[in-house]
Amino acid sequence: MNKYIWLNPVILQMYNQEELSNHLVNLGFEMITVEENHLQIVKNKYKEQYKDCKRLLCDNRCPKAVSYVRSHYNDPNLEYSAIQPILIHCAEELANRYKDYDVELYIITPCTDLKDQGNKLNMKNTIFQTWTEFCRDHNIMINSKSIQNSPIPPGFFDNIPNVVSLSSKNDIDSYFQEVTQKDKRLIEMLYCPGGCHNGDGVKIANEKYD
Ligand code: SF4
Repeated sequence: MNKYIWLNPVILQMYNQEELSNHLVNLGFEMITVEENHLQIVKNKYKEQYKDCKRLLCDNRCPKAVSYVRSHYNDPNLEYSAIQPILIHCAEELANRYKDYDVELYIITPCTDLKDQGNKLNMKNTIFQTWTEFCRDHNIMINSKSIQNSPIPPGFFDNIPNVVSLSSKNDIDSYFQEVTQKDKRLIEMLYCPGGCHNGDGVKIANEKYD
């Protein structure tokens, strides 16, 4: 059975590509990429939803941020977008590509929340795992470098007017507790400080795994 693996951009930035690819090949995995520009596709979907939205539209790319806001600051003025995160768009393209074959497709996420969201969708042949879990399961111990900025940094909606960008749990708490910027129409929300390079599933590979 062929085994394919798609790595989110945070993981790709952490390693020498050739070394990482060779390591995965030795483990029996082929690294694959998507063909469509899902970042732009998702951005366009938000632009469309924004045009018709009469309430304060909440970014749905970070499931942990959405669930935190729903449980702590739910408000009838908020409209939660149903647009799937970019990673789920990528996974759908790949799952569709291999759905008629006897394969295993691994989608590597930067956090537990995206992993859980992906696995709940029951895509055929598709397994969502965090990088930390994958490294632990396959005893991967190759050198990595720490990443200072997310490959998709805060500011995703910069070309849309009246956006507030909240790029940590603290930012989210401050905004919803103070609610001073009532003119805003769209909230960018990321739970981890600065974005996905600080996700709970991105553990440096040469650390010990529990
Ligand atoms: S890694 Fe952090 S910021 Fe990125 S989707 Fe997961 S919880 Fe949100």
